[in-house]
Amino acid sequence: MNSISRRYRNCASLALGLSFVTAGMASTGDEKIGEARQLAMKSIQAGDLQKLVDFLASDDMNGRSFKSAEAHEASKYIAKQFKEAGLTPLGDDGLWFQNIEIHEAAPNVVGIRKGKGDRFLLITAHFDHLPPKKTGDDRIFNGADDNASGTSAIIEIARAFGELDEMFEASIVFVAFNAEERGLVGSRHFAKHPPLDLKKAIGIINLDMVSRGEENLIFCEGGPSAPGMLPSIKKANKTIGLEIRFDTHPEWMRQSDQWSLLKEGVPALYFGVDDHPDYHKVTDHADKILAKLIERVARLTFIAAVDLVSKTENTNGEH
Ligand SMILES: [Zn+2]
Repeated sequence: MNSISRRYRNCASLALGLSFVTAGMASTGDEKIGEARQLAMKSIQAGDLQKLVDFLASDDMNGRSFKSAEAHEASKYIAKQFKEAGLTPLGDDGLWFQNIEIHEAAPNVVGIRKGKGDRFLLITAHFDHLPPKKTGDDRIFNGADDNASGTSAIIEIARAFGELDEMFEASIVFVAFNAEERGLVGSRHFAKHPPLDLKKAIGIINLDMVSRGEENLIFCEGGPSAPGMLPSIKKANKTIGLEIRFDTHPEWMRQSDQWSLLKEGVPALYFGVDDHPDYHKVTDHADKILAKLIERVARLTFIAAVDLVSKTENTNGEH
């Protein structure tokens, strides 16, 4: 998450008359998600997520600051993971990478699982963190929670989709953004130069800091902008059983990459944890994360995404 702007802004003003759906959902709570989908969901495992975080947040990766050699290395690593998950490249020139405005910065990494129509769901996380301190015993901002956690989650979600043979109604676009910590630069570039028409976007689910606090607690912001997506989240949670606190910190909406897409009219949901003592500190270490929490959030996102891309039309109305 980004600390440049912490000024409160009520996102409800962006909802533009969309009503906040909190009740009357069709879900009965005992719907089966199907055996194949169940197995795919269970392929998302805390142990694998921990390994990904251990790598991305290792001292060798030096904090993955946006221009660093290690950020470039991280982007290549993520592209390799996307490829292994069976995604198709959707960056510049038919490759995995989308260059962003900043000279010498690492690129965004973009991949797609194609569906039948031209609609698509965005599942995103930023992979960059902060440059090392000049002095001190521990100088490296490892950024395990912020945001190796979300990056590892979207990789494993892409892999889970790779376990399924189904052709869904809509596509899923996975984006690992760079330069979030510089002020949402990578996502702003993506939103201004989207590889697909954003009018066809079902919405964005952005994961930024999903591994600290309590093992079964996550916060979800953006409900007022995404009433068509919330029922899928709530239905998916009948399987996962997380405690989800909805829309308790509307100011968080502008502090990570979902903001760039929301500004372009894309319904946006953000998942994250509350601030913690290691937030933007060199002590945001991989051995402090709750891999089980990432697993639950990733599984939730996966099941909700399956539901959203199985629908034949967007239920948000115009946006
Ligand atoms: Zn941050």
